[in-house]
Amino acid sequence: MQTMYQTMNDVELAAAIDDLEARVAEVKARELKLDMARGKPSPEQVAISRPMLDLLSADSDLTDGGVDCSNYGCFEGIPSARALAGEFLGVDPSQTLVLGSSSLLIEHDSVAMCWLKGTCGHAPWSEFSAAHDGARVKFLCPAPGYDRHFGITEDLGIENVPVRMTENGPDMDEVERLVAADEGIKGIWCVPKYSNPTGDTYSDETVRRLTSMKTAAPDFRIFWDNAYCVHDLYDEGDELLNVFDAAREAGNEDRVIAFASTSKITFPGAGVGFVAASPVVIKEIAHHLQAGLISADKLNQLRHVRFLPDLDAVRAHMRRHAEFMRPRFECVDAKLHEGLDGTGCATWTHPRGGYFVSFDGPEGSAKRVGALCREMGVTLTPAGATWPYGEDPHDTNIRIAPSYPSVEDLSSALEVLVLAVKLVSAQLALE
Ligand code: PLP
Repeated sequence: MQTMYQTMNDVELAAAIDDLEARVAEVKARELKLDMARGKPSPEQVAISRPMLDLLSADSDLTDGGVDCSNYGCFEGIPSARALAGEFLGVDPSQTLVLGSSSLLIEHDSVAMCWLKGTCGHAPWSEFSAAHDGARVKFLCPAPGYDRHFGITEDLGIENVPVRMTENGPDMDEVERLVAADEGIKGIWCVPKYSNPTGDTYSDETVRRLTSMKTAAPDFRIFWDNAYCVHDLYDEGDELLNVFDAAREAGNEDRVIAFASTSKITFPGAGVGFVAASPVVIKEIAHHLQAGLISADKLNQLRHVRFLPDLDAVRAHMRRHAEFMRPRFECVDAKLHEGLDGTGCATWTHPRGGYFVSFDGPEGSAKRVGALCREMGVTLTPAGATWPYGEDPHDTNIRIAPSYPSVEDLSSALEVLVLAVKLVSAQLALE
């Protein structure tokens, strides 16, 4: 992409840089302190779930389907919560576990299980390298993607291999080519709906290709983190094909392990996390986790299902969340259009749900834009974070997280981002 600054002559470019630098100095003098770094809901948005806290008291019936939620037992989760988890993830409740407050921790434990013990009778992933002349276990990482996913596999010493994320999901030609050729590729990280950070949803074709592709590794697993499955901004949300149905049709039922939580539905960090898999794999995960857990917090599960008894109740609650999120996403889009249309300096995504907008500037700009924004008082997710090992090969991508600031602060933060992108683009044109 050619920026407007690359079409200027030296005199015009020097004048443009002078003007932009003067504007940067003005902003610095305002001593702003704005944060667009992490995707968490604003305090007012979290507050809509406070009534849930009043649903259990000393006088409440603390049973669910005959299960006493006030004592040990029922490791797999209380019946109503498993029914809800089944609705979320598109499986029979018997194929779910409802656990503690974090889906990310269950993702970590599921990868760790494969690493330590193997899955479906195959050797532990940790033994692969010794048995294959030192070849490493690898994971495909659609990028831009979620840094904490990449962190889980990196932490175990698994090699993270980036594959290009498109508006229909990961580049499937590339994914199919890689998994067919390399037995060391044991898995792929997926955020299939309103992906973090692009906001794109996998197409039906992508879901079918992922579940039916030939993999050299017989124990290849899709880590299907459906964190944003109900996080629509508009009444007409994106539709995602049921991955378990597709996997079953392809004869690869054991390939998928799916996750979700109520973190961005009720209380981040104090919600309820779910996992779903084939009957065989869910049994394996339960067995693995039961070594270290007698039962999760069933009172929290009970509070949740009394507040959100079924998917209809969840959808009604999410419509209230959308009232907070929609103006923020629309502010991001409007401000970026206003500031950058016609400059050739940027492209960005237009999500219809989720928590993020993915922004791309000119090659070699993202780290400098992040640093300049910081100098002007605006914190962004560190440039590179959306790529494995923090290495964005073209240094273009910035994740915008609009949920936490007020619309007014967001508007100011985006003006700063636009200014930073323009100045860095102009400086790059000079170099
Ligand atoms: N998965 C994705 C894709 C996320 O974006 C996040 C949080 O931002 C999480 C998981 C964290 O979920 P939890 O709070 O359930 O661990």
